Amino acid sequence: MAKQRICPSVTGEAADARIIGHVGAGGVVAAIPTPIPLTPAMRASLGPRPERMFRLAGTCSEERCANWQNASCGLIGRMRHLLDPGENTDADAAPATLARCGIRPDCRWWLQDGPAACRVCPRVVYNPSM
Ligand code: SF4
Repeated sequence: MAKQRICPSVTGEAADARIIGHVGAGGVVAAIPTPIPLTPAMRASLGPRPERMFRLAGTCSEERCANWQNASCGLIGRMRHLLDPGENTDADAAPATLARCGIRPDCRWWLQDGPAACRVCPRVVYNPSM
């Protein structure tokens, strides 16, 4: 059985949602290196749509997700194209340092796109209009 991967951008509706970042000024996510489980008490305190305030991660839904295309997540490719226009020139070059991240070994985006995914990751915020 394939290992379960982690989606780095889920909503608070995910049963196993955990906080991996805080949405700061300008919509840029500041990473929280040690994931914090979104407990029932926290959900009650935060109210609906905690993904507006925090970046949440949870089990990748794969084919049950609208972003799943060709056996992979189509979202990170679109985000890279949108947010990282230089992707074709240095996509494979690892930045000098990557931000600490508590889900990297199992992160769907990291496993697909490596450091290029981490470069745009802080600027991806769950669509609050959904
Ligand atoms: S894309 Fe990189 S920084 Fe973002 S959650 Fe995945 S491993 Fe962490």
